[in-house]
Amino acid sequence: MIKIRNYINGKLCEPMSGQYLDNYDPAQGVVYSLIPDSDERDVAAATLAAKNAFHDWSHMKHADRSKILIRISEIIEERLEELAMAESIDNGKPLWLAKSVDIPRARDNFYFFATAAMHFASESHATADNTINYTLRTPIGVAGCISPWNLPLYLFTWKIAPALAAGNCVVAKPSEITPMTAFLLSEICMEAGLPPGVMNIVHGLGPKVGQAISEHPDIPMISFTGGTKTGAQIAATAAPMFKKMSLELGGKNPNIIFADCDFEKMIKTTLNSSFSNQGQICLCGSRIFVERSLYEKFKTRFVSEVQKMKVGDPMNDDSRLGAVVSKPHMEKVLSYIDLAKEEGGTVLTGGHAVNPGGRCESGWFIAPTIIEGLPYKCRTNMEEIFGPVVTIMPFDTEEEVLQYANATEYGLAATLWTENLNRAHRMAAQIKSGIIWINFWLHRDLRTPFGGMKNSGVGREGGWESFRFFTEAKNVCIKY
Ligand code: NAD
Repeated sequence: MIKIRNYINGKLCEPMSGQYLDNYDPAQGVVYSLIPDSDERDVAAATLAAKNAFHDWSHMKHADRSKILIRISEIIEERLEELAMAESIDNGKPLWLAKSVDIPRARDNFYFFATAAMHFASESHATADNTINYTLRTPIGVAGCISPWNLPLYLFTWKIAPALAAGNCVVAKPSEITPMTAFLLSEICMEAGLPPGVMNIVHGLGPKVGQAISEHPDIPMISFTGGTKTGAQIAATAAPMFKKMSLELGGKNPNIIFADCDFEKMIKTTLNSSFSNQGQICLCGSRIFVERSLYEKFKTRFVSEVQKMKVGDPMNDDSRLGAVVSKPHMEKVLSYIDLAKEEGGTVLTGGHAVNPGGRCESGWFIAPTIIEGLPYKCRTNMEEIFGPVVTIMPFDTEEEVLQYANATEYGLAATLWTENLNRAHRMAAQIKSGIIWINFWLHRDLRTPFGGMKNSGVGREGGWESFRFFTEAKNVCIKY
């Protein structure tokens, strides 16, 4: 049985408690490795190591820092197959998806921020009465980075890479549900020659390890991705300490389809935006609104295509959907399907667990599910389900669908399908979401601001936004 270890001060180590938690392979429903059950003592040791490493790391030449981070990116590429396999086993996602999306993106995160660090510049403002202001941007110290289970290495590195590239040291906590690739990343950091203490990874439970990171007085900034409730808990802890916070939270995203869209392109993309990664992507479009004149055609075709999507062993290339991440998560998703029925919804396809048989007969799988007939304001349409479940609803006018789209407490992403340019711009300006995709989905340019409105988050990451978050700005004003 693989025993995962913490990565503190450049070394792999046991948790101080000596205790371990079970780590499950969701496709088989069995424990296959052990996770350190760390606590505030491990976080304290990691923070001290990071503090001690900060001076040298933050004073290292940009080019030298970049070289080490680029080396990490190269090793991720060299170990892509192994990392993808680890991610698939740990999370239940299809291996082909981990190979084509998760791990390449982790590689790209390091490469992107490592190279961006060499170009980051700050501003100066001159005035006519002989003053010049310039903005000094300096690394802050120790960054706390906490990430979720749905895109484990992808989101873990999305925080760590810019924090390190900007010259900070890091204490990071991956999700206890999917810790394996973060563990492998520790080995990669050592191999790449990252100085001890610059990056520290502490494994364990959120209320213990995550909470200790949020509370630690020597961690002045927290970058968190996860659920809205957890974000609120972190904010309640960190805000009175005036920590800098970037919170990337939940979503309940609308996918708005007008009758004038490119139908084939829309159907193909909507299958992905609904069910990629078993619907466990914060950006999935789980509320599908279709203009009434297209509704029946859409429904017939969408249901028939979804019925062709194979749910199966994540190791098989023809499995469109793998396992959902855990038993409790499977039960939560299925309970939402029951709720949808209680609320008057009709399940058009799916709606149940799946047993793929063979080595996966005890795994946690759910059929892709489409529900219709629900009002836009019921709980099924307001709360984040985060599984392979979508609702479909007809609409008549732009005003009406805008009201539907903006009705939830979330505002992360939206997708819009129309060939009418004026309508596309008009709607994009009025939908309250941090990202709007028009006529496609999940295209991510790493230079763009990423984040949510309303209860989907606070702050933006990506491109220079990440560098601004992970640095402190100081205005220096000179009179000459
Ligand atoms: P979660 O909030 O349960 O856990 C996220 C992380 O927070 C984990 O590492 C967990 O251990 C830790 N944590 C839990 N309690 C904590 C506490 N009290 N203090 C500090 N840390 C704590 O979320 P999850 O179930 O892992 O992930 C799913 C959620 O993440 C969904 O809501 C999804 O929408 C969201 N998400 C958002 C984005 C985004 O970019 N906005 C991306 C991916 C996932």
